[in-house]
Amino acid sequence: MNQNYINGRFVEGATARDNINPSDTSEVVGVYTQANAEQTREAIDVADKASIGWAQSTPQQRFDVLDTIGTELLARKAELGELLAREEGKTLPEGIGETARAGQIFKFFAGEALRLSGDKLASVRPGVEIEVVREALGVIGIITPWNFPIAIPAWKIAPAICYGNAVVFKPADLVPGCGWALADIISRSGLPEGVFNLVMGRGSVVGEEILTNPKVKGVTFTGSVATGQHVAATCAGRMAKFQLEMGGKNPLIVLDDANLDIAVETAVQGAFFSTGQRCTASSRLIVTEGVHDQFVAAVIKRLESLKVDNALSDGVHIGPVVDESQLAQDMDYIRIGQEEGAKLAFGGERLERATKGFYLSPALFTETNNSMRINREEIFGPVASIIRVSDYDEALSIANDTEFGLSSGICTTSLKYASDFKRNAKAGMAMVNLPTAGVDYHVPFGGSKGSSYGSREQGSYAAEFFTTVKTAYILP
Ligand code: NAD
Repeated sequence: MNQNYINGRFVEGATARDNINPSDTSEVVGVYTQANAEQTREAIDVADKASIGWAQSTPQQRFDVLDTIGTELLARKAELGELLAREEGKTLPEGIGETARAGQIFKFFAGEALRLSGDKLASVRPGVEIEVVREALGVIGIITPWNFPIAIPAWKIAPAICYGNAVVFKPADLVPGCGWALADIISRSGLPEGVFNLVMGRGSVVGEEILTNPKVKGVTFTGSVATGQHVAATCAGRMAKFQLEMGGKNPLIVLDDANLDIAVETAVQGAFFSTGQRCTASSRLIVTEGVHDQFVAAVIKRLESLKVDNALSDGVHIGPVVDESQLAQDMDYIRIGQEEGAKLAFGGERLERATKGFYLSPALFTETNNSMRINREEIFGPVASIIRVSDYDEALSIANDTEFGLSSGICTTSLKYASDFKRNAKAGMAMVNLPTAGVDYHVPFGGSKGSSYGSREQGSYAAEFFTTVKTAYILP
């Protein structure tokens, strides 16, 4: 049994839960303990006490801890990548890539710990000096989704520790394995007891305690819009700081002048890899009419070449959907799309494979318009729609006509359109000739409108959420 990690010790929770492999539902990846509200409170109390000492730690101590964690993640990326593929269903190369990313994030924030800085200014009053410094918030509650089970926890835990906070971390119920592996690595990193705590368990129990406990000074959340709104209302109600990363309905525009090979690869990679289960997935492919038929034919040809199978098999491109209920949601939307009059041009069928799992062939809809539910609501599966448009202006207007604003892309060889798109795309991230999914770790990540709330994650911009600013006036 894999236990919770509280005050520097692994401890049993109240109940337990099997972690099931979505590529092979007969395989239990592990048994993971589940905390109740009382145990979560205990973790928060411990973190609250430990936060005082850690806020005083030196940049060197923070660097050493974060660098040690990053080194172990990178050294064990093959083994942990396999665990990730087993519990979440990403392909093995995707799992290994994500684990390496987590290691790089810890290394980045190790460096950031050495670059902590402030401002010293002259006062408008004679003889007075002013210092502006960033200070730790205290206890940070970290609540994460299942689709990036090691990278998202890494990009929240690493900056929390870097900026001198203590952590209470709740991974998503479906993927406790990667969360536990992180806790195991952190337990050997030299971090003082109580600064990092892992509480696995249900959102309605563990998550709710994190949201409502007055000792938690900040909550960083990634997940669905519905849960995000609840996090916002609860945290705002008690004046706790919060940061939300939620859904997307990301457009990729393909113009007549695009390099067709790049456009097809960009679309297929962005829409369907990682089983389309990415908040940055390109679910709306907006194509100008001159290239429409050729583009659709080329995407279908590429989809025919993709292998959907067990995440651990050789040469597989697309692993299974994460679980039964997500598969049911994907299938529902595939039915809704057809009922709305869209043409299912490829895939969208449940597949049988040698091992029993949640396999779905990538689904491509054509003849769709932007008011259909399949183009307005996040499906979060390997499902994408083609929207035919007459020109760039119509494409941009449709791309921006959404409640979401995470990532937005264009494939074009025109500098004029690329530049205009960078300026006018209503999204936190704009991609030119690159998939809407797939980002660097040293620059800000996040969106606008219904996709995100609060300050950006990742890169040096992360300091904004994980610290509070103090302005000190001194008359020496
Ligand atoms: P979810 O909202 O169901 O769950 C997210 C987390 O919130 C889980 O840990 C869950 O246990 C917890 N939770 C649930 N109820 C809670 C409550 N009442 N109080 C506190 N915590 C609670 O989302 P999910 O299904 O795990 O993830 C998929 C969603 O995440 C998609 O909408 C996707 O777009 C989004 N996502 C966004 C980003 C981004 O950066 N924008 C990245 C990845 C995933």
